[in-house]
Amino acid sequence: MSARKPVLEIRGLRTQFFLREGIVTALDGIDLTIYENESVGIVGETGCGKSMTAYSILRLVPHPGRITAGSIKYKGIELTTLDLDRMRSVRGTEISMIFQDASTALDPVFTVGSQLDEVISLHQGIYEKVALEKKVVEALELVRIAAPKEVMEMYPHELSGGMKQRVMIALALSCSPSMLIADEPTTALDVTIQGQILKLLKALVAKTGSSMMLITHNLGIVAETCDRICVMYAGRIVEDAETFELFEHPRHPYTAGLLTAFPKLGEKKDELSVIKGTVPDLMNPFKGCPFVDRCGKAMDVCSKHRPSRVEISRGHYVSCHLWSGGEPSDG
Ligand code: SF4
Repeated sequence: MSARKPVLEIRGLRTQFFLREGIVTALDGIDLTIYENESVGIVGETGCGKSMTAYSILRLVPHPGRITAGSIKYKGIELTTLDLDRMRSVRGTEISMIFQDASTALDPVFTVGSQLDEVISLHQGIYEKVALEKKVVEALELVRIAAPKEVMEMYPHELSGGMKQRVMIALALSCSPSMLIADEPTTALDVTIQGQILKLLKALVAKTGSSMMLITHNLGIVAETCDRICVMYAGRIVEDAETFELFEHPRHPYTAGLLTAFPKLGEKKDELSVIKGTVPDLMNPFKGCPFVDRCGKAMDVCSKHRPSRVEISRGHYVSCHLWSGGEPSDG
């Protein structure tokens, strides 16, 4: 029925860090597809590999890390082996990233206008002064900055946190990317501004037709913003389903735990539930399910074999022996 085209197809992605103390497997066999005009939320605890997935897609994994296995295809082009010049043009022109903290991503010594000038001239080939200024004003208006001509003349330190984040979104969208990666884009902002920025992102993605990968540890944010959610744990995607389906029918014990810890609207909780135990040490290779030490439903097979990823209902994938009948993916 669906003629949706995939924009990004990741298969078996593994990213590892080669430290003196040993090898840390930050991503361990990620499979993920993002379609045209789709917003996908990546959720999970700190250190589960959410941001590393984004850095791997953009080939910005910091030293001493590198992609050691798998494939990342953007519109059919293999990114893991793309030459660096072409990769640079994919970053920015095709895939843009919005970072958690705009203060560190904006250049403090240049005005907002000159930073936008640079991106627009580089990616849209516009150099003539009047035409460039018109484009900069349009970019700032798109992110609902009320006085674009004044803001153009300002330096980042003269802007509030919310304004800086809007400028960063304007920069990211100035090259009309097909894919926007937003890594915790509202964490540094207060709650009212968070809501405004998320609404804005959602509206802009709908307007421009981009796909979006939204990385967050906040389930409320993905519930509001995303079509689909991928739940990550210890460098793996453990569950992946449409937003409503995931909230209504979480199948992986870790997802169920996350949702229990998440207070529903109108629900009064004296304290948040937490999932007991800690995430496994990613430097020690484990054979089975990484959640085994924290899982109330663990069986013998769970510590011995990695669970297969199975589709339990249309578009709803889970990696858990409860659903794969103990079928291991590692043979
Ligand atoms: Fe729990 Fe086993 Fe499922 Fe892992 S595979 S989540 S340990 S039941």
